[in-house]
Amino acid sequence: MTLAVLIKAGRLIDGTGKIHRDMQILVEEDEITSVGASVEAGEDTPVLDFSGHTVMPGLIDAHLHITSTGDPDTLKKLRMGVPYTALVGASHAKKTLEAGVTAVRDAGAPFNTALDLKRAINEGLAPGPRMVVSGQGLSISGGHGDPANGWPREIEFLGRRPVDSPDEARRAARQELAYGADCIKMSATGGVMSMGTDHTVRGLTEDEMRAAIEEARNRKKRTLAHAQGTEGIKNAIRAGIDSIEHGFWLDDETIEMMLDRDVFLVPTLAAVYRIVEAGTEKGVPPHAVEKAKVGQAAHLESFALALDRGVKIAMGTDAGTPFNLHGENAFELQLMVNAGMKPMQAIVATTSRAAEILDLKAGRVAEGYLADLIAVDGDPSEDVACLGELENIKMVMVGGEVQVERC
Ligand SMILES: [Zn+2]
Repeated sequence: MTLAVLIKAGRLIDGTGKIHRDMQILVEEDEITSVGASVEAGEDTPVLDFSGHTVMPGLIDAHLHITSTGDPDTLKKLRMGVPYTALVGASHAKKTLEAGVTAVRDAGAPFNTALDLKRAINEGLAPGPRMVVSGQGLSISGGHGDPANGWPREIEFLGRRPVDSPDEARRAARQELAYGADCIKMSATGGVMSMGTDHTVRGLTEDEMRAAIEEARNRKKRTLAHAQGTEGIKNAIRAGIDSIEHGFWLDDETIEMMLDRDVFLVPTLAAVYRIVEAGTEKGVPPHAVEKAKVGQAAHLESFALALDRGVKIAMGTDAGTPFNLHGENAFELQLMVNAGMKPMQAIVATTSRAAEILDLKAGRVAEGYLADLIAVDGDPSEDVACLGELENIKMVMVGGEVQVERC
């Protein structure tokens, strides 16, 4: 017998920008099989009645670090062993799911921790969202994430793979894919949190990225580039990247290149916002605060330009960076609205658009899509802030199974 459930929705946000009133959704096994004003279901089909609520696709976060703690002290991470790191990741996955996030893309975690966490969630050992995992990101010696920048020599790269030639990039990508990575992450520029690297300086060369991207494509996997300065962003696009993460300095030419090649932007506004907000008073290293402040103004301009020109934007938080906490993912929608999006545009970025870059048949309430759904008190299409309050998230369903209930 097929497991089925009928959901009644007072307001239905479908993930593509449309709102419908008084709809019914039939879920069978892990899939949505019918949506309409009145759908045919067996007499004994259990009903979840959200006639007084909004039903919409579960939130999708296209960029976070599930094992990172949000601690201002990056060195803390270097003192965490593998089992402890995995447990930290599991507790974050639970918080993420409880906040209505049904799928995430992990953009880098040490060793196999995110891959193993994904396995544990899929096997029902731990609660959590659907995970798309990039394994350990590729970066150059002395580049983003290299602890050699000002730290003792005996501290190794953690959560990154140092590569210094196209051959090394190819090999690292092949190995990450062999470990089970769903996508390959690479650092095209320096970063805000890394000591000794400026975020405008390029990281991996175009040739290095091209080699890794070729290997990902060969296995039908996507690629993402940590890219803040213009030169690195362009290198990544020319090399064939699928998404630009952060994208602080986008100029007209970069925008054209992104549109031509159908490249996504995952802005992660919360990462910069939280660092600037906390400042050195709360323990964020001065070099990071300085870089975040310089980057923020350019970032907001670039976001507005990308939005105006129609670049595909997917929601990503970079949760795990300082004070950017797991479970507060929906704050990114508020920041995207503050930066110029209409609430519904922010919702589309967090549902169907994000599903596209994660390669998931999710993010929409339509026949044939995964039954990853949430029921919300309030109307997020009027004010996205309602998604940020835990008590408003009444139900979270992943693959047809109710995982969280707050009725
Ligand atoms: Zn990140």
